Amino acid sequence: TTRIVLASRPQGAPVAANFRLEQVPLPALGPGQVLLRNRYLSLDPYMRGRMDDGPSYAPPVAVDAVMEGQTVAEVLQSQAPGLAVGELVLAPGGWQTHAVVAGDAISRHLDPAGLPLSTALGVYGMPGFTAYSSLIEIGKLQPGETLVVAAASGPVGATVAQLAKLQGARVVAIAGGEAKRAYLETLGVDVALDHRASGFAEQLSAAVPDGIDVYFENVGGHVLDAVLPLLNDFARIPVCGTIATYNARGVAQPGPDRLPALFSQILRQRLTVRGFIVHDFKHLWPEFERDMPQWLRDGRIKYREDVVQGLENAPEAFFGLLQGRNFGKLVVKLD
Ligand code: NDP
Repeated sequence: TTRIVLASRPQGAPVAANFRLEQVPLPALGPGQVLLRNRYLSLDPYMRGRMDDGPSYAPPVAVDAVMEGQTVAEVLQSQAPGLAVGELVLAPGGWQTHAVVAGDAISRHLDPAGLPLSTALGVYGMPGFTAYSSLIEIGKLQPGETLVVAAASGPVGATVAQLAKLQGARVVAIAGGEAKRAYLETLGVDVALDHRASGFAEQLSAAVPDGIDVYFENVGGHVLDAVLPLLNDFARIPVCGTIATYNARGVAQPGPDRLPALFSQILRQRLTVRGFIVHDFKHLWPEFERDMPQWLRDGRIKYREDVVQGLENAPEAFFGLLQGRNFGKLVVKLD
């Protein structure tokens, strides 16, 4: 198999030297295992966290180990019950062309006649379900309320924005750059903003005349700064990601300590600020699996993918993901 391993841990932003492309023989297939050929590899922001050795909700990737990642894969050999040769599955296949994994680790069988296979990594997979489940569990959006979401051309943000429109909310969607901003308008949001534009904070303020009831937090940073003064009492903030700081070293940032003011605001305005990991909401998967294909087929939910060709191009594409160079759900096509 050709694979990419973590060669060293990054100091700040990851660089090419943190990865190593290598060829190794495949291990022999043991009982209960399957041999997979990976067709699509998902690249996701959480992978930045796996490169660091520190406390998190999941253990880090070990140095010299293959980078973790979900794949759409084909079963080439099987010693696992219920997994036949030729079947297409969603698997923890990693950054490699082939993988030997335990049959138990395979979470979904995919229908080759159904939606495009790559959607199992995006809008009809983990990121789409992240949007769907946390909006229900934490957003508790009411018709007529105002929702704001950034990273809104990506699989989480675009799904949040469109689900919120279906639920009758006023939606302000934010992305970086004019091309992405223009794309957001095609999703039917009420206002689309470019967070890199000068005067972004004023534009956001003007876009929410009734304040913000739900801020779906994907990014942190200067977008969060612009949002905080505009929140309504009892606003809900599902804290999904803070990608603006994934490459930051250390916790302390220079400048005044804003933590007391933030906690005071949470109290005064009775804000709900709740972090979550998508796995917290597994109980909602059956209804998501039932409804999302229908919404995709009838065009109520649209999605965009950014498909990169070839495993060797995965590191560069991953660096771009952390800086907004991807435009839509980032996947690597491996065949
Ligand atoms: P995206 O495809 O949206 O890619 C990330 C985007 O973040 C970039 O394209 C860029 O978009 C934006 N971004 C990067 N840096 C900044 C910045 N400094 N300020 C504002 N925006 C920035 O990724 P996903 O949809 O896969 O993920 C979105 C978020 O959801 C991430 O934070 C991710 O970690 C989180 N997540 C959390 C899960 C959970 O279980 N809690 C599960 C899945 C995802 P732009 O060019 O528009 O700025």
